[in-house]
Amino acid sequence: MTIPRQRLAILGATGSIGTSTLDVAARHPDRYEVVALSAHQRVDDMLALCLRWQPRWAAMSDEAAAADLRQRLRGAGSRTEVLAGPAALVELAAHPEVDAVMAAIVGAAGLPSCMAAARAGKRLLLANKEALVVGGASFMAAVQAGGATLLPIDSEHSAIFQCLPEDRRTWGQRIHHIVLTASGGPFRQRDPATLHDITPDQACAHPNWVMGRKISVDSATMMNKALEVIEARWLFDLTPEQVQVVIHPQSIIHSMVVCRDQSVLAQLGTPDMRVPIAYGLSFPERIESGAQALDFLSLKALTFEAPERSRFPGLFLAWDALNGPAGSTAVLNAANEVAVEAFLAGRIRFTDIHTVNAATLDTLRVPQGADASVESLLALDAQARSHATTRVQALTR
Ligand code: NAD
Ligand code: MG
Repeated sequence: MTIPRQRLAILGATGSIGTSTLDVAARHPDRYEVVALSAHQRVDDMLALCLRWQPRWAAMSDEAAAADLRQRLRGAGSRTEVLAGPAALVELAAHPEVDAVMAAIVGAAGLPSCMAAARAGKRLLLANKEALVVGGASFMAAVQAGGATLLPIDSEHSAIFQCLPEDRRTWGQRIHHIVLTASGGPFRQRDPATLHDITPDQACAHPNWVMGRKISVDSATMMNKALEVIEARWLFDLTPEQVQVVIHPQSIIHSMVVCRDQSVLAQLGTPDMRVPIAYGLSFPERIESGAQALDFLSLKALTFEAPERSRFPGLFLAWDALNGPAGSTAVLNAANEVAVEAFLAGRIRFTDIHTVNAATLDTLRVPQGADASVESLLALDAQARSHATTRVQALTR
């Protein structure tokens, strides 16, 4: 008997996670059929992907880019249908002819399509952590209501997920706390007094992972880990205090579960995102991912350090936001997206990212009893962006 192939929609197909997902899918043509791809503006990259994968649909969130892609695909004799605008992402995420959605868009821009996939009961492979940080309880409620299968792709959360039994009803009883590992990024040992001079290219040169520019900057500030603390709180239904962070520079242990009896479960491997992606694609089975085997004999040491507040102040905002009024995590995420973009554009200093984030979180009060619908969270996101933009302008050199 032949098993029907899983029909995949890869949102954010031209990015680092999107490309790695296609790499894994290409190893298993018998299991996966790529039916939809999306990208923001990069027409050349998307054209190449469409010609290689021949999806039924290709969406460009930018209208002009969509028109350009449509014309070039037609010229090449392709039958791929080109869709345009943010609404196209929502349509594809919920499409009846899509089984699994890889959410690999960067930023809160991915929230509407994630919500659509959740409500439509898809197998939802979540790399887009910002969507869960903004959506929080509403996101998890949509997963529940839609009957979606939510599979974490972030390597730390995939590690935790791999350490837990399939029956999520048993998780609360088992988990004492979890430990998210962090590499510490490129500035783990740099004198904190010199952090203000860091350039975007220095910040994007991560020692262990090659990633998109936004997450690379987040790794350098450890805001990435702050977002992951918030992500873990929702994925595994934990209190903020049940999520701990330890620096592990080798990135071999991807995270750990400390059980009630103090037994510790860890997931290990070479740092390669194709492992969590392959697990998300094949769960509960396992498939070949293309990653290198872990060579224990070449590992010199696995070491651990506490993250210092003076070097990584942003990390600690995670617990402030989680313990703050509902919506605070959406405010923090929005401020950080604005600040990172301004830093990458050379408008503010590396250390200003934290200044903008902390000030926005501090000043913008989420109204007590405000409803946590996605619409009101997105309104709050817009308000926080405008607040953070004013802060950036005040800091612009
Ligand atoms: P990337 O910058 O390489 O790719 C982002 C993708 O999103 C691109 O395809 C781009 O076209 C699309 N995109 C960007 N802005 C958009 C918008 N406004 N609307 C629609 N599409 C848009 O990023 P990445 O490194 O692949 O990361 C993607 C997500 O996965 C992020 O949320 C990141 O935090 C998460 N993640 C990445 C890694 C990694 O190793 N790269 C690891 C864990 C989690
Ligand atoms: Mg991660």
